[in-house]
Amino acid sequence: MPDHRDGSGKVKRKLRVRQAQTVLPFGVGAILDVQGESFVAAGIESWPRQKTAITSERLATRLGVQGFFAAPPTLNDRYDQSDHPGVPYVRFPGWLFCGSCRAMVRFLRENEKPGEPPVCTSCAAAPRLTPMRFVRICPDGHLDDVDWWYWAHSQLPAELRSSCSESKDAWKARRLSFRVADRASGLEALSVRCGATRADGKPCAAERDLLDILGPRGGRCSGGNPWQRRKENATCGQQTHIVQRTAGNVYYPVVYSALDIPQSRRTPTPGAGRRRGRARPSVLADPAGCTRDGSSRCLPRHDQGRHRRRRQPHRSTRR
Ligand SMILES: [Zn+2]
Ligand SMILES: [Zn+2]
Ligand SMILES: [Zn+2]
Repeated sequence: MPDHRDGSGKVKRKLRVRQAQTVLPFGVGAILDVQGESFVAAGIESWPRQKTAITSERLATRLGVQGFFAAPPTLNDRYDQSDHPGVPYVRFPGWLFCGSCRAMVRFLRENEKPGEPPVCTSCAAAPRLTPMRFVRICPDGHLDDVDWWYWAHSQLPAELRSSCSESKDAWKARRLSFRVADRASGLEALSVRCGATRADGKPCAAERDLLDILGPRGGRCSGGNPWQRRKENATCGQQTHIVQRTAGNVYYPVVYSALDIPQSRRTPTPGAGRRRGRARPSVLADPAGCTRDGSSRCLPRHDQGRHRRRRQPHRSTRR
């Protein structure tokens, strides 16, 4: 969607997701890259109270749930109003960097300004900040930022690491930079460096390149997702893997599909019945699925094509 101007003449960017896309491809836990920014679809517990109920009794019975809701659509373009009913997407990863001064910024929710992308406050030209390319995932579907402060200090002895002035608030460290070397290429050309000081007053200067960052290196899983508060974290503790956020192995949604066809009350005319008969939905029925009686036909079946791992509805798995 194109940018537009608000009442003061300031250009506001508009980021929209179609309602159907809130199921696939941008369902709960999916990462959405749009106009140089990156977000993740929040869980349905974060949706506004005003929702549209979807009735599909047989599918609900099959899945052992009480009912379904459709994503609440926005009614107008006033996306920057707090009372609008759109589906929440949360900025993720929270770590961004400036392509000009290379400073890394942990962008917090309170820093968000409606309709405005994050910009570097250290550079006079205020260029847009870019999301970091890497995230942490675990086999149980949890998703988190890479601990970049720890990565930069991970090759130091523990006592030197703890003497860094940023060690207490490492999750939002303010002196990290994302550097790129001129004489190298690939991941080894990229590094994260700490610009803080140590307890003895000397520069910390801890630095590590990203050559071997991919794989099981992210530490233990905290059991959370980006839209959740820390106190909502599950008990997990599995080894996390660091992956590129746009990689195809990040998101495996659990997909069930169903077809509902209301029974027609009109008496079939001669000839039309035979045509209808060929199109009877029971032809499509999963043998293990619904019976054919009743006023509607509901044909739940697994999506066997795109998603290889599935456990429960409304959950995603990552590996
Ligand atoms: Zn900058
Ligand atoms: Zn440091
Ligand atoms: Zn986990």
